[in-house]
Amino acid sequence: MSYENYKQQMTRIADIQFASALLQWDQEVYMPAAGADQRANQLATLSSIAHEMSTGEQLGKWLNELKSVQELSAEQKANVKHSLRDYTNRKKYSAAFVEKMSLQVSKTFNAWQEAKAQSNFTLYAKELDQLIELKLREADLLGYKDHPYDALLDQYEPDLTVKELDVLFAQVRSELVPFVKELFGKKVKSEFMYANYPSDKQWDLGITLLKDMGYDFESGRQDISSHPFTINFGSKDVRVTTRINENDFHEMIWSCIHEGGHALYEQGLKPENYGLPMGEAVSLSIHESQSRFWENNVGRSKPYWTYYYPYIQELFPQQLKNVSLHEFYCAMNEVKPSLIRTNADELTYHFHVMVRYEIEKMILEKKVKTNELPDLWNEKYKAYLGIDVPNDAQGVLQDVHWSHGSFGYFPTYSLGSFYAAQFYAALKKQIPNLEMHIEKGEFAPILAWLRENIHQYGKLYSAKELSVRISGEPLNFSYFMSYAKDKYTKMFA
Ligand code: ZN
Repeated sequence: MSYENYKQQMTRIADIQFASALLQWDQEVYMPAAGADQRANQLATLSSIAHEMSTGEQLGKWLNELKSVQELSAEQKANVKHSLRDYTNRKKYSAAFVEKMSLQVSKTFNAWQEAKAQSNFTLYAKELDQLIELKLREADLLGYKDHPYDALLDQYEPDLTVKELDVLFAQVRSELVPFVKELFGKKVKSEFMYANYPSDKQWDLGITLLKDMGYDFESGRQDISSHPFTINFGSKDVRVTTRINENDFHEMIWSCIHEGGHALYEQGLKPENYGLPMGEAVSLSIHESQSRFWENNVGRSKPYWTYYYPYIQELFPQQLKNVSLHEFYCAMNEVKPSLIRTNADELTYHFHVMVRYEIEKMILEKKVKTNELPDLWNEKYKAYLGIDVPNDAQGVLQDVHWSHGSFGYFPTYSLGSFYAAQFYAALKKQIPNLEMHIEKGEFAPILAWLRENIHQYGKLYSAKELSVRISGEPLNFSYFMSYAKDKYTKMFA
């Protein structure tokens, strides 16, 4: 009977975690500023309750009994395997270490906010340095074979290693970097993207794009926040947020399609697996593959804009009066060096990630001192993107991740795009007239394919297994590279 006990306990833990997620959503979307301190305490209380429940001796006992029960179904066995792994990992942390880490994260995050506002890295260096020491201790606690970074990567992308990432980024360096540098010379007309696009009309367009993708507004909603995100409280309530810039038409469009892709994944998880690993996404890279699949492979394609452009021109007749479909398509895909990762195009984006990956590795190998990070950052931006970083706020301080202690998170962004290209190639083989569907605004076959091949399984297959099932092989960078070459060569033909 202990499977039922285990399942019930997991459901209760999920109830607490989703309640806490709802408070976080509110914090980003509606909470009045003065509520911040009390909200922080409420979140801390819920998180410690969830931690106690998920590290309790009884749960461990059930899991250890269940791991050798043969009568369980394949899904049940997979649930037990994943939960036991999580449980064992959580038990490696003492309560004192968890508290110390959470305190240091708050301090580092506050220092980062201050440092970013003043564009002064030195205000942040001391706290970051201490956080790095704790992360190295965490890597030791978790254990690793070859590299401390492997222990941290594993939390976001199970089984991913530095060895594999080194091979991958070596390909980015030798193939993508030279290809993109050639594209930097091609001029694209894009000033119309920065005309005035009234926010109410942009909002309506965003809702239309989401509905057309198959995002279910009966199980979700969209709101405005300063940083777009997707958050869920089970698969029946999956919310997205967007940001609208009246003078930059890109922001709302890409954030809606990107977050919509994440949300479709969450809405496609089976509700009966609520709280269980089979009701959760495989990993960060597979999650990102879903957002990038819609954003890059579908959304940045010519057929997509062939369908939408007449409608968009009707919505914004003044702004797009003299702009042809091809010009609009090229503007949507302009490749140019930029300072800020989140505004980068789909190709140079990976240079931003590579810079962070190389630096994180050096940090954990103790090959760079914390106060040398701004110079190292600026050197790498010069080398890969050919640009000078004018200040720390637009350089080494631009992302929140390190202040949260999230070392190992960035590479999953690139992996997501690379998986997306590989999955899209598989989909194209199975639906040969795929682009005709997209040109007509028929996205249902795409969503059905993603549901069938990815969403429904939760964590049943690992990222690697999933990739092999879908495309016949593990992650292979050449899919992304040929996607890029094919698309941009045609664009400038
Ligand atoms: Zn994303």
